Amino acid sequence: MHINIKNLVTKEQTAQLHESMDLSDLLGDRVDLVAFGTLEADLQVVSELGIVEVVGFLTLPVTLLCSRCLNQVQQTLTIRFRERFTKVATEDNDDSDLHIVKEDPVDLKPFVEEAVWMALPYIPLCSEDCKGICPDCGVNRNEQDCSCKQEKLDPRLAGLADLFKE
Ligand SMILES: [Zn+2]
Ligand SMILES: [Zn+2]
Repeated sequence: MHINIKNLVTKEQTAQLHESMDLSDLLGDRVDLVAFGTLEADLQVVSELGIVEVVGFLTLPVTLLCSRCLNQVQQTLTIRFRERFTKVATEDNDDSDLHIVKEDPVDLKPFVEEAVWMALPYIPLCSEDCKGICPDCGVNRNEQDCSCKQEKLDPRLAGLADLFKE
């Protein structure tokens, strides 16, 4: 997926980019990813005042492992994408979103890959209130209750608990 900065800048034009991308190279080694599909990029390219802005959404179907109960979670990540490119440094070159590029056309793949990498959940969960696996008996607490003590009794309160046994 490439954009030609010089052409875009001289023609002051708008373009649409719809492309599919295989991210096997990037994601193949992620152990927390059970499976992933093809990335779809749906981007708009706008050229204005010597700056080319690429903005839109990336979607990627993924199957993750819940970090608490280890069940598989299928979801489609929708990732907002926005990058700006220019060939010459301008007065707002302190803007970290603005890339001053020498090569042209510019390959968008590394930028797409970075956006996907940042968007992958650090701690995937099947649901916010997933109860996880019991560390004592290994039961999935979402499916079944177990009789293991949830918390160890505070030793300072043990004497008090004895009192209530009477
Ligand atoms: Zn879970
Ligand atoms: Zn248990």
